[in-house]
Amino acid sequence: MVNTATSLDAFARGKLASLDAQRLRRQLVESHRDDAIWITRNGKRLLSFSCNDYLNLTQHPEIVEASITATRRWGVGSGGSRLVTGNHPLFSELETKLAALKGCEAACVFGSGYLANIGIIPAIVGKSDLLLVDELAHACIWAGAALSGGRVIRFSHNNVAHAADLLAVHRHEHQHALMLTDHVFSMDGDLAPVGALMNLASQHDAWLMTDDAHGLGVLRTTPHQVPLQMGTLSKAIGAYGGYLCASRPVVELIRNRARSFVYSTGLPPGTVAAAIAALDFIAREPAYAARPLARARQFTLALGLPEAESPIVPLVLGDAETALTASDILSEAGFLVAAIRPPTVPPGTSRLRFTFTAQHPAAEVDRLAALIKSRILPATAAPQHS
Ligand SMILES: *Cc1c(COP(=O)(O)O)cnc(C)c1O
Repeated sequence: MVNTATSLDAFARGKLASLDAQRLRRQLVESHRDDAIWITRNGKRLLSFSCNDYLNLTQHPEIVEASITATRRWGVGSGGSRLVTGNHPLFSELETKLAALKGCEAACVFGSGYLANIGIIPAIVGKSDLLLVDELAHACIWAGAALSGGRVIRFSHNNVAHAADLLAVHRHEHQHALMLTDHVFSMDGDLAPVGALMNLASQHDAWLMTDDAHGLGVLRTTPHQVPLQMGTLSKAIGAYGGYLCASRPVVELIRNRARSFVYSTGLPPGTVAAAIAALDFIAREPAYAARPLARARQFTLALGLPEAESPIVPLVLGDAETALTASDILSEAGFLVAAIRPPTVPPGTSRLRFTFTAQHPAAEVDRLAALIKSRILPATAAPQHS
């Protein structure tokens, strides 16, 4: 008889040793978010340039209060799937606001952005269909694409001509075609050519789905009439949850067929109330909402990098070791900037990923840029990412 507990542990230890050897092992570090920009870790206070809390709304008093009030009134959990008993009245208020913001007829709120993507994609396309995915699309888009059982082909990053070639060759072999891309790329901060992709989709009778996880609330996007617009409530919105904005029939189909919607518990009322309060706040404060991008541009200007298109700025350094060392240097100077390594980014493109938020003091952004100039750029010969 084999002792399966022992063989399982040996398997796990072997995998972990291999991650260690490649400097790819990750650790959970207890992080006290003292306020919306400062974090205490291992007893050390650091200014964070690694949170996705672009508008620092996770700790905004008005939004916290809205969450507490809803929790007192409706309880800490929703008690069931939204299709059974979990559909408390705050959902329709949030969905109405999201749909209006995105210029769509309707919206559907999910438990998270990840759950949204793995639910929406297989509900729209299946075995006989074609999926074209930008090679740098977020992990949960790939997960949803794989779950669909359709034929998945990647196109070169933001390369509309490549996507066009693939459609010209393969579109006719499939019943439906779906193109998938991040709107703001999560590890690169650049934007998808949404207008050109929309044109391409219409030429080939394909559908387009964009993931606006990092755009909602911080980028003034002109409505593109993208038929499937998903995103998250966990970044600039500061709360938690995912959503799809689309036409009424599409949203109705998703509510019936997206398995991560049907078979998962609805979000807690306090979370939904926080998202509603955050959307109201953003609508009232456009100048404040523009600040993360302005800080990112201050940073790229100071370093002579290509002008930031979003609040995310990558500094590609090459191997994992170099990125980790750079992160340590910044940490010693009081900055928290996570090193991003494979498999989150392609091998050889390990990087520092900076996220800028509304409350970052301009002087600290300058100090950070100066430190990178003096301590990090001279130590790496790797070409800069553009
Ligand atoms: C963060 C992120 C998600 C996942 O959203 P969660 O709400 O955190 O599950 C999906 N897509 C992109 C592009 C993201 O950056």
